[in-house]
Formats: sequence, structure tokens, C-alpha cells
Amino acid sequence: MSTVLLRCGKHFDGVSDSLGGAVDLLVEDGVITAMGSDLAAPDGAEVVDLTGLTVTPGFIDTHVHLTMGSPLITQTLFSSARKALTGLALAQKYLQIGFTTVRDLGSADPEWPVVDIRNAINSGEFVGPRVVVAPHFISPTGGHGDIDNFFNERWGFKISDPADSVGDIRRTVRREHRGGGDWVKTTNAGGYHSAGDDPAVCCWFDEEMDALCAAAAQLGMDVAVHCGSADSVLQAIRAGVRSLEHAYMIDAEGIDLAEKSDVFVVPTMYLNVADVNALKAGTLPAYIQGKFTRDLEKIQNAQRMLAASSIKIAFGTDAGMFPFDDGAKEFAAMVQCGIDPARALRAGTSVAADLLRLDDVGTLAVGKVADIVAMPGDPVDDITATERVCFVMKGGKVVRHDQ
Ligand SMILES: [Zn+2]
Repeated sequence: MSTVLLRCGKHFDGVSDSLGGAVDLLVEDGVITAMGSDLAAPDGAEVVDLTGLTVTPGFIDTHVHLTMGSPLITQTLFSSARKALTGLALAQKYLQIGFTTVRDLGSADPEWPVVDIRNAINSGEFVGPRVVVAPHFISPTGGHGDIDNFFNERWGFKISDPADSVGDIRRTVRREHRGGGDWVKTTNAGGYHSAGDDPAVCCWFDEEMDALCAAAAQLGMDVAVHCGSADSVLQAIRAGVRSLEHAYMIDAEGIDLAEKSDVFVVPTMYLNVADVNALKAGTLPAYIQGKFTRDLEKIQNAQRMLAASSIKIAFGTDAGMFPFDDGAKEFAAMVQCGIDPARALRAGTSVAADLLRLDDVGTLAVGKVADIVAMPGDPVDDITATERVCFVMKGGKVVRHDQ
């Protein structure tokens, strides 16, 4: 039995509005078994001094792409094996900066590289974060998940498998289930980072989106939808998806409907900051620039409305579209858009766990799995403290501790 006693400075429990004071956490065989002040160290326990730091639950990023790292067009051409190797390395680096759980929302590959990464980590063969997987994008021809847009037809690569009828859609959802997917990822509007499609256009018909959600529900899978235009947001909520990714141009009607439903929104606010920076630096590819500058004001307005709403906002970055090193900057981007710091922290811990239906992580409490990070400073007072994680424990094992 492994026993670790963490003597912590301040702590954020994952659900509160503010930080709590000093606390000791006893971790036995990977689970928090006692929490209080001045706990006695059991015989043989390893005692870790974190008294100068603030501890929080491990961060959860509900929107990453481990096998579609920038530049997208290059990594798409890697073999499946190389994608898995690179993705595993990215996941391991991400764990080091505090992300103990990630949900991967799609790879462009005929194989299942992210399922392999998840299984390799779960088997104990490799250290890495918990990985929840939606293996591929389910998209119509010419939609955001039709990556063939990038390449000339005559190349004949089979990297996307578009679906264009209710029957096709059922087939692809069943394939995702058979291949070991946890979630179903679909795109009902175009995107900014893909060529040949438009975020302002809703690309599923209602009956197609409904069929996709019904097939996923029948197989016990939740649906995450990349959506953009206001009508694509409404369509997705009505069809019964569990998470709206980006919701770039959600309008007042969408906000109202989302507030009244159980849907979560993953607003990927740093992605927008990264794209604005790239635009200013002149490095945003031409095929992104036109549609992004056209919609920028609408996106920023939508983000302000989301911040002011009571919608369940979960932390998600779209890391892969920008370097994973910058993932924690999502917290500051959320605060900059008007989300208060404690809500941003909940979004990256308990709310994200709720979205992923992982009830054993996301909070610091007796009986929970010991996924714990620590950082100097007070993240409620200065949210950028989340960018300076110096201690990481996953499942009771210390994977980083800067002395
Ligand atoms: Zn994405």
C-alpha cells in the first residue's frame, strides 16, 4: 500500500467560490482518504511539503487534439503510428503542466491512434493523463471534419470518411462505438482552421443531426459537436448533444435555450486570442483570415454573452490548433472574457469532470481519486498562477515536484 501525506498551503476544492486555508490530504493507494488540519502521518507514509503552495484538483481539458498538432496539414500526413507516438509525447508534456485528464475530440486518420494512446496509458505501460476519446470527426462531405479539403482529390488519401445520409451517419457512429470510442464527435458547421468550409454555415440537416444523436444515445455514447453559426447551435441543442464546442456565434436565443437545457458549452476562448495574435503577426494562413476577420466581432460578442450567462461552461482549449504548452492560458482568457476566476477554476475541474461523467475526479474530497496539482500564488486573485504549476500527482503518484 502506498501512503502519501500532502501538507498543503491554501487549497481550492473544485466547487467553492473561494480558496480554503491550509489543509493536509492523506492519499492511500491513489485515493484521498482523509482531509483536515494537522493530520498525523501514518507509519511509513511519505510526507510532501506543499505548505508554500496552493493545491487544486488536477486540471481537465475537455477539448484537445493529440494527433492533429500544428501545423495540421503536416501532421495529417503522418502515419498512424507516428501520430500515436507524437500524441503520447504531447499528452505526457501536458500532464507535466497540470492536466491530469483530457478529452480528445478527433483525429484525421483511418486508424485509431488516440484510442491506442488511451489504452497504453490505462494499461500502465506509459505515464500520461487520463484520456477520454472521440476517435474521429463525423462530418458531411465538405464539412469541417472532411479533411480531404486540404488535399487534391487525385492524391486519393482516405483520411476522412464523410457521411451524407441517415444510414451513413448510423454506420459511422456504430464504427466509432466498435472501435473503442468513449464519445462521438461531430461538426455541424464549418471551422476556421479548415479549408473549404464555413463556420457561418450549418451543414447537417436537422434529421441528420437527430439521427446522429439517436444512434449515439442508443449505443450509450455522448455527443460533442463543433458548432459555429447561431442556427447550428440551436440545431445541436435541440438534437440533444451533451457539449457544444466553440459555439462561436451563439446568439441570445441560443444562450436562452442552453440555459434551459442540460448542455455544456466549451467556449475555447484562448483559441480566439491565439488566432488574433497570429492575425496581428501576419502568420494566420490566408484560408483562415477572411472568415475569421469577418466573424471576429460576433465571436467576441458571443463570448461576452456566454460569460454573463448561467450556462455550464467547461474548460477546453482545442490545443493542437496551437501549442499544448499554452493550454493553461485558457484560464486567463476565460477571465479576460468576463468569467470570474473561481468559475474558471470550476470549469477546469468539477464542471469538466461532470461533463465527462467522471465522478471520481475534479474535486478534492475524501473518496476521490488523488489527481492534485500545486502552484505558487493565489489563482483566484491572479488566475495566471495556473500557468506556474510545479507539483503534479495523478492517481496518487507524484509525476512532477519541483524542489
Ligand atoms: Zn477541435
